[in-house]
Amino acid sequence: MQAFEGILEELAQLYNRMDQAYAQAALAHGFVCAGCEDSCCQTRFYHHTLVEYLHLKKGVSLLAPAEQQRLFQRAARTVEEMGAADGRGPSAMCPLNEAGRCILYAYRPMICRLHGIPHQLRRPDGLRQLGPGCGDFDRQCGRSTDVFLDRTPLYAGLADLERRLRRQRAFEGKIKLSIAQMLIHKIEGNDAAPPAGETHEIP
Ligand code: SF4
Ligand code: SF4
Repeated sequence: MQAFEGILEELAQLYNRMDQAYAQAALAHGFVCAGCEDSCCQTRFYHHTLVEYLHLKKGVSLLAPAEQQRLFQRAARTVEEMGAADGRGPSAMCPLNEAGRCILYAYRPMICRLHGIPHQLRRPDGLRQLGPGCGDFDRQCGRSTDVFLDRTPLYAGLADLERRLRRQRAFEGKIKLSIAQMLIHKIEGNDAAPPAGETHEIP
């Protein structure tokens, strides 16, 4: 077993807690995410942790080789489209979304699990930061000021795993990658199989 596998297992457990917190909050609001027209899979989200990167790569490694090749080609096209838009144009659909379905659902990162429901974050200085739900949430439930999803312990759990993993792997680099970039980039120290085609080292 790779040294980081234990931390990836802890991440899978944290993801379960995120899914439960989301399901409870959705139930409390009466909100159902059933794949709306402005799907958040085409939102320009960036991901910042090595632990989520490695977890996603683990999921990719479980796909059949031919499917991996198709995925890397799609991801490369997506990165090109997003680059052509100079980071400010309309976002492209996530390459993991096939016909409205996430092909690595169990490996999707945190933001894909928490997006859509109004939330709060308790900051270290004691202030409470509030975030809105998605457009479809507002259509279904109205602009809610009731918050049932507290992201604070979930973010703290992810930060703890990231700290421990980075210490374990002596990694200090900054990460800011879309899903498409995660698929075709290679972060130094990453043990997952490198994708075919162009890769970029992130020191
Ligand atoms: S990883 Fe899955 S859930 Fe997240 S944006 Fe991509 S397709 Fe959607
Ligand atoms: S979370 Fe909201 S924006 Fe995303 S697919 Fe569900 S309803 Fe649509």
